[in-house]
Amino acid sequence: MKCMHRILCLLLACLMLTACNTTAPDSSGAALDTQQKVDQIKQLGESPDDNYRTYYEVFVYSFCDSDGDGIGDIPGLVSKLDYLQNLGIRGLWLMPIHPSSSYHKYNVEDYYAIDPAYGTMEDFETLIAECEKRDIHVIIDLVLNHTASEHPWFKEAVSYLQNLPAGAEPNVEECKYLDYYFFSREAGAGARPVEGTEWFYEGMFDFTMPDVNFASEELWEEYRQIMEFWIGKGVAGFRLDAAKEFYSGNAAKNIEVLNRIQQTATAIKPDCYLVAEVWENFGQISEYYKSGITSIFNFAFGNVDGKITNVIRAAGNPGTVATYATALEKADKAYLASNPDYIDAPFLSNHDVGRIAGFANRDPLKIKMAGAMNVLMSGSCFIYYGEELGMPGSGNDPSKRAPMLWNEARDNGTTNPPPECELPAEYPLGSLEIQEKDDLSVYNYYRQAIALRNALPVISHGRTTCETALNIGCVSAQRKTWNEEACIILMNINPEAATADLSAYADWTLAATLSADGNPITLDGTTLNLSAYGIAVLLPAAQ
Ligand code: CA
Repeated sequence: MKCMHRILCLLLACLMLTACNTTAPDSSGAALDTQQKVDQIKQLGESPDDNYRTYYEVFVYSFCDSDGDGIGDIPGLVSKLDYLQNLGIRGLWLMPIHPSSSYHKYNVEDYYAIDPAYGTMEDFETLIAECEKRDIHVIIDLVLNHTASEHPWFKEAVSYLQNLPAGAEPNVEECKYLDYYFFSREAGAGARPVEGTEWFYEGMFDFTMPDVNFASEELWEEYRQIMEFWIGKGVAGFRLDAAKEFYSGNAAKNIEVLNRIQQTATAIKPDCYLVAEVWENFGQISEYYKSGITSIFNFAFGNVDGKITNVIRAAGNPGTVATYATALEKADKAYLASNPDYIDAPFLSNHDVGRIAGFANRDPLKIKMAGAMNVLMSGSCFIYYGEELGMPGSGNDPSKRAPMLWNEARDNGTTNPPPECELPAEYPLGSLEIQEKDDLSVYNYYRQAIALRNALPVISHGRTTCETALNIGCVSAQRKTWNEEACIILMNINPEAATADLSAYADWTLAATLSADGNPITLDGTTLNLSAYGIAVLLPAAQ
């Protein structure tokens, strides 16, 4: 019945939108406000309740402060859930929330608690309950590669070594935590001295982040219990930090560890969603998918040197634009060959890299286009907080994690910058307060792009191929297929308007459009008129 209902809705929406596009050519442009456009798009359908979601990465510290101490917190995040729901967000990735001496909290001192600066366990439970009401999944950062040097496991091991009589050999029977880390008398890679002893420990990232030993069965049991604890609290899954550093430089061992994490998590919760940070190129990501891990962030498409940025920077260049759809097809095939159950995890920016606004030369049309390219990729797409405002942010790490720009006065929930954060000299696109009122803002464009993704599950679930017959000039064309459904997405990655000849596509209908510059995208007979950076989505007429 649900399927039948969906088909009817699609038919109605297609009829309506097609009718709009033929009788009122500007209906996809400025004539309608954002809410009307979003409502129209929503009539196309809705997302199923599974792990293909539209995620939003939150650095709690910088997101929203509820109590005036200048540090973002969980109650602040809860107060913004309506905002996120309105944006179309269906999943949150929280950067670490556990007690930690660092502002970013990637050195975890207690895996079973909430950092007091962020709130209490009760606050977290409220967050989960409020997210459930809004059909938003929550995943949390799981930092398994290292603990904090202030973690009790490490402190106990260090204390044991410091109290070891001269000449005595350490005994794991006396202190099991010795086996959780890499202690050695040799100063190997990443070695840090254990104070007051002749011993070293491995801490590749930092002396506050001792690397753990995944050969320890007792450690695995600790990690299993930690996963079980948070799954019990209602999280949908975990983001796995630094997965290519479990055994730095040894992909085969890292793949083994990822496989075991996947097995461990899904034994507790069969649909547990895991997404790993493997900061690698396309070939290596394909290899890592052999671990069976559900998702790996698609660094081949995100970041400053990823495919999306490369294509955006070459907008208007047919030779480069043409490679976008073929790259999507190639990646999908390669990842699928490694893991038939993989879910891609595209992103543009995250807390470790500069923001897309900079990569796109702060051109709002390019920022919109890049945003749509990310959001219309298959899998679970990830949006870094503030990306929907085209917020700039680059330089040192804290500067990539600047406060969310809620309003021009930078008050009322806006946090203090994290330590050593250099705020951008200007925010050329303005705060949310400004952008909400502007139908042509990056924010209102994101709302439409996300609504489109959420309305047509074939966009997030589909296998992607290059639609060669339409992949012409600066119009990038991809086809997605999923079960009985299909769609074709045409993107004019081009500062000039362009056309596409749809005469061979008589059995397809123009179902939805995304206009970046406000100019209409219309179907004139069999000619599709795409405005600069315009996007059109075709559906089979019978779908
Ligand atoms: Ca606070």
